Amino acid sequence: MRGARPLSDVTLNHEAIHTAQMKEMLYVFFYMWYFIEWVIRLFMGGDAYRNISFEKEAYDNQKDMYYLTKRERFNFLNYY
Ligand SMILES: [Zn+2]
Repeated sequence: MRGARPLSDVTLNHEAIHTAQMKEMLYVFFYMWYFIEWVIRLFMGGDAYRNISFEKEAYDNQKDMYYLTKRERFNFLNYY
């Protein structure tokens, strides 16, 4: 999730991956988890935003336009 970028297929795919994650997390839990993980990673050093598991999954797979067709549910759990 990061605005003010030119919309490209990659960006749209990135956001579509987040949408799939949100549905799995029933939206409210996505935002709670996202925020909590971000706070924890702030204390761990590095780029907290970029290291959130939701973001890692999205960034790692955003160039794969077929990713969502083959993605397994809760796959972000593999990005911790
Ligand atoms: Zn994102």
